[in-house]
Amino acid sequence: MKALIDKLYETQSLDSREFCRLFTSRTEETDTYAKELACKVRKKNFGNDIYIRGLIEFTNYCKNDCYYCGIRKSNTKAQRYRLDKEDILDCCRAGYELGFRTFVLQGGEDGYFTEDRMTDIIRSVKEQYPDCAVTLSIGEKDFSTYQAYRNAGADRYLLRHETADEEHYATLHPPALSSGYRKECLRNLKKLGFQTGAGFMVGSPYQTTESLVKDFLFLKELNPEMVGIGPFIAHKDTPFGKEKNGTLSDTLFYLSILRLMLPRALLPATTALGTIHPRGRELGILAGANVVMPNLSPVSVRKKYLLYNDKICTGEEAAEGLANLKVRMDSIGCHVVTGRGDYKG
Ligand code: SAH
Repeated sequence: MKALIDKLYETQSLDSREFCRLFTSRTEETDTYAKELACKVRKKNFGNDIYIRGLIEFTNYCKNDCYYCGIRKSNTKAQRYRLDKEDILDCCRAGYELGFRTFVLQGGEDGYFTEDRMTDIIRSVKEQYPDCAVTLSIGEKDFSTYQAYRNAGADRYLLRHETADEEHYATLHPPALSSGYRKECLRNLKKLGFQTGAGFMVGSPYQTTESLVKDFLFLKELNPEMVGIGPFIAHKDTPFGKEKNGTLSDTLFYLSILRLMLPRALLPATTALGTIHPRGRELGILAGANVVMPNLSPVSVRKKYLLYNDKICTGEEAAEGLANLKVRMDSIGCHVVTGRGDYKG
């Protein structure tokens, strides 16, 4: 099995049968080996630098009904909120002072934020913080809307593909949503010159080795600048409320495989990873990740953007969160840097 990991390290690719073999014959030893090589590749490309992104969760209204997600339309228990432009700019101001040079505006698919409102927000952030990158994570839009966001100055877009397997996709989403359209959105984002992020949940219900192989083949073909993966975590008020969570070791393994396959990709150690294990984010970095995304949302709304049970960092101020994170990163020999942290191809 080490031979397959070596091959991935040397050629950055495997075929579907090889991925399948790699995923089904894991041992502790091969997991460790993958991690060591992934760490080496991270260091070669990024040294000990860890990029930070200030995450602003600006609305939890959503028209979609994804079966796994805590802010799905049908969850009547979710307390809905949205931030206005001034609130968002306040978050950016606080973040800028702390050293953030990327702001990630994430939210549900909220009809209130029309193309006009969104482009106004993007322009305002870019005007006030011209040295910062703006990343959007607000779901599926048509080409012309993505284009308008881009023209307004947005630099990056995160849209996890969730699963590259159509049948699996249909078990996680209502019929109104399709894997085909999600992939088309990702291709449009790339065409428009966004640094584009795809990704999936590890251990989502009905995930199989075959679907994971498709995820990796899809990611190799798309060649995104960013890939976000984290464990699936049940949210009690969703149809998947009683499903099993994804595991730490699986998530770390797939992170390492991603680092070997896409050496320069920006890979976050996600909040979900930090939620399933107290040192999840540090372990994510040690498995090959090089980005963390601390929360810049006002503390008053943090607990309402609950995608899954027990989400971490819902009670702390941004400054506190960042200080805490810096200590954690220092403890593993890494350091948080101030800078946009763009993709370098
Ligand atoms: N509306 C935006 C943002 C979605 S939230 C969009 O459609 O892209 C960001 C990500 O959180 C999702 O893409 C999903 O992969 C993840 N997520 C949602 N529910 C989750 C859960 N229960 N466990 C783990 N991750 C989850």
